[in-house]
Amino acid sequence: MRIPSTLMLSILILIASPVARASDSPAIRVTELTDDLYLLATDQGSYTTNSLLFVGADGLLLVDTQSEDDAEELERAVEELGKARPAYIINTHRHVEHIGGNAIFGEEPVVIAHSLVPEKLRTGSHIFDEFPDATFPDITFDTSLTLHFNDERIELHALAGSHDDNEIIVHFTKARVVHLSSLVNGFNFPSVDSDGDVLKFPELVARAMEMLPRDVTIVSGHNDIGTWEDLRAYHQMLVQTTQIVRDGLSEGYDVIELQKREVLGEWGRYAGSYVSVDDWIKYLARGIEGKDETKKSVFEPIYRTWKHEGAESAVEHYFTLKRNHSEEYGFGGFVLLEIGDKLSRRGHTEAAIPFLEADLADQPDSKYRYYTAYKLADAYHKVGKEELALDYCEMALDLNPEFAPAVALRATLEEE
Ligand SMILES: [Zn+2]
Repeated sequence: MRIPSTLMLSILILIASPVARASDSPAIRVTELTDDLYLLATDQGSYTTNSLLFVGADGLLLVDTQSEDDAEELERAVEELGKARPAYIINTHRHVEHIGGNAIFGEEPVVIAHSLVPEKLRTGSHIFDEFPDATFPDITFDTSLTLHFNDERIELHALAGSHDDNEIIVHFTKARVVHLSSLVNGFNFPSVDSDGDVLKFPELVARAMEMLPRDVTIVSGHNDIGTWEDLRAYHQMLVQTTQIVRDGLSEGYDVIELQKREVLGEWGRYAGSYVSVDDWIKYLARGIEGKDETKKSVFEPIYRTWKHEGAESAVEHYFTLKRNHSEEYGFGGFVLLEIGDKLSRRGHTEAAIPFLEADLADQPDSKYRYYTAYKLADAYHKVGKEELALDYCEMALDLNPEFAPAVALRATLEEE
């Protein structure tokens, strides 16, 4: 069962890039969990992303490598704490804020991930990321794997299929610390990717609870750390909220009515930085109703057209497919914005512009128009078209006067 592309999280990641952060705030917060195990958290404004660094006689092991934008900060923190490069990198799943820093450490670290990760990183929207070779795993598995490293027994278990379809958990059995990937979300409602299944959360979390000792420290992919008891309460929340929404639907209420009736009551306290109580009701309802289609990814054909015929043709191809083949391809989310963003990040500024322009035309009601406008302003500035840059910067600021990168860009443009 699939949920239509939920690009919310990747969009949030786009928006939470370091340019959006106060420039003098420390990018990485270090917490010592044991003498040789550190939590490295990047502050993304409304949430954190959590890596673990394990230091010892055999060398360094890093769990998750943050986003590409935070890679240099991560490299600096790893160097400072470990005085070396990582021997191993473990990626808890394929999302960009967990694998983005792999490449900065080069080809030497042995990268370990779920066996679905390589294919995932070469398809779907990731095709536009054109990840360098060093990003890809060297060792993959789909059940479990044990590492004996730094006098520790590190157990890796695939508990995939809820948030995404390729999550693994990383358990430092002697230290009694576990990284639970995005099976938990700092004990807020979790998010669900298009390849995830919201109904799998209770079963997978129960399996994690069985595997883990009661005195374990739980690190999740994002936000606060917790205890086994927190995990048990979180499991209760998953079971109860699923039942409440299931009951509501079978009584004939739809999602909007369930949201209005505030059916989750006290469970609303699990609302967090990027999944509100209404989002959680929606995720659950979609999962329970199971009316989610499996459509083909539109990114691959657009990518091929871009490569062979250029960006203008690729944008035309997008609209042709959307007009004539919307039954076959998925157009959920913010396809053009995502492509434009990825291209500009890879330095394909000229190519990004038509995609971003088309996004404004294609998504008149998008709440991310300010971001698209900002990206256009930035792109036009980079290619020396300052008047257009200023126009789009003004548009971004009309839509979101607080958006710091646009404020900064306008100041730069006005100076010049
Ligand atoms: Zn994720």
